[in-house]
Amino acid sequence: MVADSQSAIIQSRDNLANIKRRISQSAQSCDRSVADVTLVAVSKTIQGAGIEPVIAAGHRVFGENRVQEAEAKWPDLKAQTDDIMLHLIGPLQTNKVRVALGLFDVIETLDRPKLARRLALLMEETGARPDLFIQVNTGEEAQKAGVLPDECDEFVKLCRDELDLPVIGLMCIPPADEEPSLHFTLLRKIARRNGLAKLSMGMSADFDIAIEFGATHVRVGTAIFGSRPPLKPSLD
Ligand SMILES: *Cc1c(COP(=O)(O)O)cnc(C)c1O
Repeated sequence: MVADSQSAIIQSRDNLANIKRRISQSAQSCDRSVADVTLVAVSKTIQGAGIEPVIAAGHRVFGENRVQEAEAKWPDLKAQTDDIMLHLIGPLQTNKVRVALGLFDVIETLDRPKLARRLALLMEETGARPDLFIQVNTGEEAQKAGVLPDECDEFVKLCRDELDLPVIGLMCIPPADEEPSLHFTLLRKIARRNGLAKLSMGMSADFDIAIEFGATHVRVGTAIFGSRPPLKPSLD
């Protein structure tokens, strides 16, 4: 088993280096600065021992999609390393906002007025002020979270202007079976007309393309940590 975990460490370090190289190639190919692209290493379903080698390799920005899972893993990992930046990239229920504010440095999944109002209230109360992305359902998929493209401008106004939330950008998860660049273009267009600078888009399969379409944050899981076990039902 020692040999196995040793090789897993080497593997995830190699993967990380490889992804960083591809990010810098994509950035160069469209005359963007590599410093303008943040790699969010998506560590969902990966145990602490699997995340540690990636931290040891110098990586600091991670993403989790379940509050409860993050709560179990990250306080320890954060206690070992000062400058971890943890992103929430999965759905946030209003009854988990307080926990989320204590845990996450960035919340990428702001997607409805009720959540916006709860965040505003508890940010005021706790003093926590994570950067926020609004999730946009660019494919208008019934089962997917996110504000519809048509309703996005109004939602930005509510969040940023009325509730004074620190919204810095937009996030999307394109439909699996569609050309992602169409969705990346749409997200960029909505962000620009609302004066939002950050775009979280692109995953293992398409982050190179996302960078060419302006991604400032790419969320990469399997290409760093390997394939995940099948999803268990959410406890959140
Ligand atoms: C799991 C997940 C990712 C990473 O997906 P990979 O295909 O493993 O890179 C990115 N974004 C969100 C919202 C996710 O849930």
